[in-house]
Amino acid sequence: MTIIDTRTPDPKRLIPGATGDWEVIIGLEVHAQVTSDAKLFSGASTAFGAAPNANVSLVDAAMPGMLPVINEECVRQAIRTGLGLKAQINLKSVFDRKNYFYPDLPQGYQISQYKQPIVGEGIVAVSVGPDSKGQFEEIEVGIERLHLEQDAGKSMHDQHPTMSYVDLNRSGVALMEIVSKPDMRSADEAKAYLTKLRTIVRYLGTCDGNMDEGSMRADVNVSVRRPGEGFGTRCEIKNVNSIRFVGQAIDYEARRQIAIIEDGGKIDQETRLFDPNKGETRSMRSKEEAHDYRYFPDPDLLPLEFDQAYVDALAGYLPELPDDKRTRLIASLGLSAYDASILVSEKAIADYFEKVAAGRDGKTAANWVINDLLGALNKAGKTIEESPVSPDQLGAIVDLIREGTISGKIAKDLFELVWSEGGDPKALVESRGMKQVTDTGAIEKAVDEVIAANPDKVEQAKAKPSLAGWFVGQVMKATGGKANPQAVNSLVKAKLGIED
Ligand code: ADP
Ligand code: MG
Repeated sequence: MTIIDTRTPDPKRLIPGATGDWEVIIGLEVHAQVTSDAKLFSGASTAFGAAPNANVSLVDAAMPGMLPVINEECVRQAIRTGLGLKAQINLKSVFDRKNYFYPDLPQGYQISQYKQPIVGEGIVAVSVGPDSKGQFEEIEVGIERLHLEQDAGKSMHDQHPTMSYVDLNRSGVALMEIVSKPDMRSADEAKAYLTKLRTIVRYLGTCDGNMDEGSMRADVNVSVRRPGEGFGTRCEIKNVNSIRFVGQAIDYEARRQIAIIEDGGKIDQETRLFDPNKGETRSMRSKEEAHDYRYFPDPDLLPLEFDQAYVDALAGYLPELPDDKRTRLIASLGLSAYDASILVSEKAIADYFEKVAAGRDGKTAANWVINDLLGALNKAGKTIEESPVSPDQLGAIVDLIREGTISGKIAKDLFELVWSEGGDPKALVESRGMKQVTDTGAIEKAVDEVIAANPDKVEQAKAKPSLAGWFVGQVMKATGGKANPQAVNSLVKAKLGIED
């Protein structure tokens, strides 16, 4: 592969070394497990968490004479993912054998795609940030290719004092390997790219993106260079299984390489492992060359071929993707780019928001979801799927404010009540007496009492009209926040003789 450098060095991304500035270059190879009930070449189940070796067909165990049969659903998912990455879809691709020995690889080779992958070059738009000023920076990361391949099984070395166990449940599960160009220039960019990639496959439903279950993992390629120079030798950090660890591994690895070069040494191309406990990378093996694998086309499988109409049909049923959704939320609901970015950042958040916004004011719905709901979830360490307040409940709260039944302030209390106790917001407002007081007689009484109790403040307010706010606050307090704030405001001003 010829690598083209698409970016000029960005001063704020440079890392200062002892002898001058350095630029870090990052490319990711992401393994994403295809969402499919069955494996890539067999009918065995892909369900997570089954008993060891429960999901193993004769093909997965590589029994003699067994033949692989391509699972069309996996092909569809790979094409859909390619479309989501705005990538070239190759109407003809080839499955190759990648030969190596490992106890959890019973075939003695992995069926993968090498020279002719199913998906070619594409592009991912990534927002990096926000920085300390709340700004996002937009970058583009090139996709080199996406190919289909089989996963291997799992060796377990900690189950028995003298033996290793092998679990073949994952053997033959379909993976998409998504290879980026070396277009990233900082740990933050790589984290933002991986986050975006996960968002895209989740919107598409082609991979669940659960990194803690191993459904998505990244090989992180890192090199350093002086700004303006050609690419340096890279090291590849294998199988990093969280976005945070990707960032830590890059920062550690860049500094390690800079220290070696500044010491007069050179970087050996090698495969390394990240140790999350120590926060460091360590050498695993020197880099194997492609010819060591003796790739050749798998004689058990025909080239994979389909026509453009097949691709077009899949394109026609693609769901709305995050970038398009963001554009639509800004254009049709008048949301800010910042709010829209947050709402589309996860499919589950976007789905939640759209339920709350349906038939209601978009900006109000956005404020409640972003500030109140996401704020509370964040504080409680919960995901949106675990939210104690459902979209219907939040929608009902928004309706109660719009109808004037409760004030904005009471709505916050109501939200907390629904969060901790559940229930129908409308019924809660009735049973807990949270209704806004719009009865001017009652409000007037409260205003009169506050004015009567504070003659000195009344004198001051006549000279300094902004003090009216203090009276409004006192009345709100006296009515337990239930008075209609607009009504209080105009009554206070009228009684104090302040012009509106
Ligand atoms: P392989 O690891 O299988 O040899 P490639 O040579 O295609 O595969 O590269 C794998 C990954 O390494 C790609 O994501 C690519 O962007 C990245 N990469 C290539 N050269 C560099 C480099 N000098 N520094 C950092 N990443 C690189
Ligand atoms: Mg690699």
